[in-house]
Amino acid sequence: MPALNLRDLDAAAMQAALQPYGVDATVGRRIFARVHRDGAADLEPVRGLAGAARRALAVDLVWPDLEIVERRGSADGFVKYLFRLADGPHIEAVRIPLPDPADARALKERRRAGQAAPLEALPTAKYTLCVSSQAGCALACDFCATGRLGAIRSLHTWEILAQVRRIAAEADHPVRGVVFMGMGEPFLNYDNVVSAASVLSHPAGGAISAKAISISTAGIVPMIRRYTQERHNFRLVFSLGAPDSELRLPLMPIEKRWPLGELMDAIREYAAATRQRVTLAYVAIGGVNMTAAHAAQLARLVADLRVKINLIDVSDASGRYLPPSPEELGAFRDELSAHGIPVVRRYSGGNEIGAGCGTLSATRAGGALLSIGRAPATGGS
Ligand code: SF4
Repeated sequence: MPALNLRDLDAAAMQAALQPYGVDATVGRRIFARVHRDGAADLEPVRGLAGAARRALAVDLVWPDLEIVERRGSADGFVKYLFRLADGPHIEAVRIPLPDPADARALKERRRAGQAAPLEALPTAKYTLCVSSQAGCALACDFCATGRLGAIRSLHTWEILAQVRRIAAEADHPVRGVVFMGMGEPFLNYDNVVSAASVLSHPAGGAISAKAISISTAGIVPMIRRYTQERHNFRLVFSLGAPDSELRLPLMPIEKRWPLGELMDAIREYAAATRQRVTLAYVAIGGVNMTAAHAAQLARLVADLRVKINLIDVSDASGRYLPPSPEELGAFRDELSAHGIPVVRRYSGGNEIGAGCGTLSATRAGGALLSIGRAPATGGS
């Protein structure tokens, strides 16, 4: 038998791989939990595993892992991880602190009542992780440091899962969400991303609610259609970047291959199939795509859809693109609100460590190096 990496396999693939060893479905499920829930690198305590299978697996199994090269923390509790892949390239993931939902609701109420209530003041109750799906990225969005690296390679399923496993293992709160908004375009690595998401949401794996797993795509239209047909429960997020093709093209060269009109058709099909409000991500760039006129154009573009717009401040370490001013932001939001479109400004924390999800910086600048053990790790520097 060739080397067998169980960390790379979702539930169905693992059952199939274990079958030649005479492992039945019940024991297979225990092995799945041992590998993906416990994060173990052995099958020692697995009950019901026959001696012959145990011995054969001990010879064949390999347990590859990612190397954590660096952890950088920011004052607002974000931590950026830099991993090295076995063949050399680096990838990044970000640990994002989130408060208890009840605390967040109470804070909203206080704000509504006009009391000062900064988001950072809430204690962390859980984490969401922003993970990478590729090293580098072929899509070359003009505002994105990862895009400037070009395509390097797609990650294996186990390399995606290892980001979550390694970060969760040293976190002081549970990981309750994962967003595929790190380096790479998830839908250029479709099979491995969907396989990793299925392990993360499996009750005997990561046990993360499928609704708390988001996959963000810049618009790989055939894969959006495939995803819609396959009816997965993870949340898709569509990154628009601009309200028309002319402005989108220089920002997101994917526009040439799959123009905005075609992308909107695929989004409509997804919306019709899921009957859910569609989340659109819009990278907010000062002086580029944030006027009231742009917002009005965006409102017309999505007029026949139920959408929510996530505004994400651009995070460009080169300084070529800057986040919008408060005035630009206000005008843009007001215009969308006037059209009845909900707008959420995603808190782009960890700015000094280049941790803004959606446009991971692919740099090692800024922040403070952290030494993180199993002890509490929030708070950065
Ligand atoms: S923004 Fe996303 S899709 Fe665009 S180049 Fe960067 S990683 Fe790739």
